[in-house]
Parts: sequence; C-alpha cells; structure tokens
Amino acid sequence: MKRSDFIKQTGITAMGAITLSQFGNEWLLGKSTPTMPVLFIGHGSPMNAIEQNGFTQHLQQLGKSMPKPQAIMVVSAHWQTRGTFVHVAPYPKTIHDFGGFPQALFDVQYPAKGAPEIAKGIGALIGGAAIFHDTEWGLDHGAWSILNHLYPLADVPVFQLSLDYTLSAQGHYDLAKQLMSLRNKGVLIIGSGNIVHNLGMLNWDKPNNTGFDWAIEFDDYIAKALAQSNHNQLIQYNQAGKSALLSVPTNEHYLPMLYAAAAQTTRSQLAFTYQELQMGSISMRCFQIT
Ligand code: ZN
Repeated sequence: MKRSDFIKQTGITAMGAITLSQFGNEWLLGKSTPTMPVLFIGHGSPMNAIEQNGFTQHLQQLGKSMPKPQAIMVVSAHWQTRGTFVHVAPYPKTIHDFGGFPQALFDVQYPAKGAPEIAKGIGALIGGAAIFHDTEWGLDHGAWSILNHLYPLADVPVFQLSLDYTLSAQGHYDLAKQLMSLRNKGVLIIGSGNIVHNLGMLNWDKPNNTGFDWAIEFDDYIAKALAQSNHNQLIQYNQAGKSALLSVPTNEHYLPMLYAAAAQTTRSQLAFTYQELQMGSISMRCFQIT
C-alpha cells in the first residue's frame, strides 16, 4: 500500500452528546496568567510521532523552551465538523486515524487528561457564538503525533477544537481572533496542519528540502505574508493563483494556520521555528508567536 493512501477520511464527529456551551464558569472568572505563546505546527506524516529527526528534535526543544501551560488547545486538520465543536471529555482517547503504518504507531497512546472546565468555558469567552460540546472524539494524530514530542510526559491537559467545514477562511480567522484571550488564561493554542499539503503529488523519491516549484512558491508567499502580518493575504490565499491551487487542494490542513496567525498584533514577535519541504509537496514550516 502506498503511503499516499494512508490518511483515512477526516473525522466527522458523531452528533450525540451535544449541549450548547454554558455561560460562565470558575475557570473563566479566575485570574489572568502571563500571555502564552501560540504555535503553528506543520505535522506531516503520522510517523513523526515515533521517529527522531530534525523536525521532532525541534518539537522537543520547543516544548522545553515555553512556559508550562495550564492546558493546550489543538486545532487539528483531522477533526472537521458541521459547526464548531470542543472536546470536553476528562480523558480524551488517542485516535489512530490512519491506515498502512507499522504496529508501533498504532501502539502509541497519549494519556494526557482533558480540560473539560476550560473547554466548556470557551463559548462564553467568545461572546456566545455556538460552540458545541463533544465527548466522542479525543485526540487525533494531528494532536498526539506532535504532543508526543512537545510534552512527552503527557502532563498537560489537552483538548481539541474542531474545524467547522461550513466556515469560510475569513470565518475561521474571525473565530480564531476571539479565542486569543485563552492565551491569558494559561492556554497554549496550537494550530496543527501543513501550509502546503498535497498528498496526491507526493514524490517518495524527492529528498527532503526539495519541494516542487509551486510548493516553494506558495510556502514563501505565506511566510512573507506572515512576516508582514498581512492577514488579508493569508485569508485570501487563493489570490496566489496556481501555486495555491496545488498547495491547498483541500483547505483542512491550511486553515489551522489561521488559528495561530490570528495571534499576531503590532507588539507580537513571529519566529519560524522550523522549515522543510518533504517529498516535494508537504511544507513542514512551523512558527511561534509570542
Ligand atoms: Zn495531517
């Protein structure tokens, strides 16, 4: 089986166990913390969860370099839903949402606790927009394959926020902006996807750091937009033309980047913590905003 076949359909959550967010809870009323950084991680292959390479070493260093969060919220490319959901279970399960990989990858468990109180407070935080509560999902590989390196002890509570597939890129960005106050409540926000992600064009013979021309062009285009805090360009990425069409054939891996970019202000610092093009058509570019 070719690994280009590996990713199963992204999850559409079961619609059971839904309640509308409740307004107000003790966590929301608690005191503010120093502002947490925000990360975008280009996660690439699930195999990164159990490999040691330049990318995973970078994650290990990054985890050690940040203040320890009270909780982590991951917006992963691999949880798409109709409406925005937040996972509120106290013990999120590790989801092996792929096929065709070694047993060792299926054996990985990421046993971090959830953060139900924080997760349930998000609706109030963003002014009452509908955030649905979910207890069916857990942690997909967009979350645990990177957390396994960032926080290998799994000692920080984690929850996921889904990607509403009915929202436009502008809608995702607007939602992300509203979530940024989580940073002052000790929450590390992580967008997990890939700026360039075209599995249909993967070239297994291409060594690392040799991307297709269109992949290099689009990755550079987005990096420049980030460096200039040009958020309109990030939202209207299709204006890049052909390179955008090839780099973002479907937008679920691109959109999590907006949940990190939205942290940029006139006072923030942007650092590209890692960049690499894998197999021609995957950008592993990662960044941190402080
Ligand atoms: Zn992915």
